[in-house]
Amino acid sequence: MHARVLVIEDDPASLELLKYLLEAAGHVVRVARDGLAGLQAALEDEHELILCDLQLPHLSGFEIIARLRENAYRSTVPVIAVTAFSMPGDRDAALAAGFAEYLTKPIDPETFVESINRFLASGLLAGSS
Ligand code: MN
Repeated sequence: MHARVLVIEDDPASLELLKYLLEAAGHVVRVARDGLAGLQAALEDEHELILCDLQLPHLSGFEIIARLRENAYRSTVPVIAVTAFSMPGDRDAALAAGFAEYLTKPIDPETFVESINRFLASGLLAGSS
């Protein structure tokens, strides 16, 4: 499936890589380079998936997920956390905060698109919208 994906990431190299891989796989990608712009984009438009860095200027990934989860129209959009700073327990904390999945940088181009597509397909099969 071709999904509308929002990528919220302040690291230019990571942003370019994610955008490139997702577009090459046929997805429609919107980008935001800080937390505030990311939250605005997430609230403005419907996306099938959001990829969100955790360390962002203005608003962190945790602040973004909290605001989306309490929003009447955006409470169910799946958001995958993407982070470079992974400590034991971080994954559990992210999932507890409402992230649907947790990916660590550096992104592996070989497996990234496959895992995103599998994630999107499983969401459809589960009937979540
Ligand atoms: Mn960052």
